[in-house]
Amino acid sequence: MSATLLTQLAAALANNTVRVVDLTQTLRPSTPVIQLPPEFAPSNPFTISEISHYDSRGPGWYWNNLSMGEHTGTHFDAPVHWVTGQHYADGFTDTIPAQRFVAPACVIDCTKEVATDEKFVLEVPHIDTWEKQHGKIPAGAWVLMRTGWSTRGDSPAFLNMKADGPHSPGPSAAAITFLVKERDVNGWGVEAVGTDHGQAFAFEPAFPAHNLMHGAKKFGLASLCNLDQLPPTGALLITPPLKIAKGSGSPLRVLALVAA
Ligand code: MN
Repeated sequence: MSATLLTQLAAALANNTVRVVDLTQTLRPSTPVIQLPPEFAPSNPFTISEISHYDSRGPGWYWNNLSMGEHTGTHFDAPVHWVTGQHYADGFTDTIPAQRFVAPACVIDCTKEVATDEKFVLEVPHIDTWEKQHGKIPAGAWVLMRTGWSTRGDSPAFLNMKADGPHSPGPSAAAITFLVKERDVNGWGVEAVGTDHGQAFAFEPAFPAHNLMHGAKKFGLASLCNLDQLPPTGALLITPPLKIAKGSGSPLRVLALVAA
């Protein structure tokens, strides 16, 4: 049965009846990095430097050195990223069971709301409305908040820093509580630089997409793109972070399998 299923999948990939959609932003020195208040340590930006390029430093080969914070560009948040998830032995990038890196996705389209409200907060009633149209969010699924935010690219409008902090959309604490406790999701993903709302420092609890998701050993995905190419349900996400020993997260390539 399983072997037949995989043979069918391979055939569907070969004849493009299952498409692979890339949900990843390109990593480059201009990739925006989350900005914290000055009393906290900052994350390094993405840097790349050439080791050799078919030249005297290496006549037959081209390669680069990389440097960046773990949470740079399109990236994965592991449970140990937050203090609430610190005690999970299987909550590091190298210890999370690989089975959890392949999971279905539910996509909640908030592009209309965010077009008129940069600080749109996704609440439980929005999820209720979505479920009435598309069915109950299954246990173990990713829930992705589609906002159109990724079209801001690497411009300052992506971080959208204002005097009172970032103006960017995200979920309420109640919405995250619902997804964790009532739906037992695999994790929560967004197009913005971080999984929480830009003003989530003032939420109760603060940063609920981090505090509550990671406290329940669930994951985060930030800086996703191409969510407009996904159906509301039915896509299968492949999300393995780099296998960094005791890593709190990492940049990754996020792929979605979508039936054509
Ligand atoms: Mn992160």
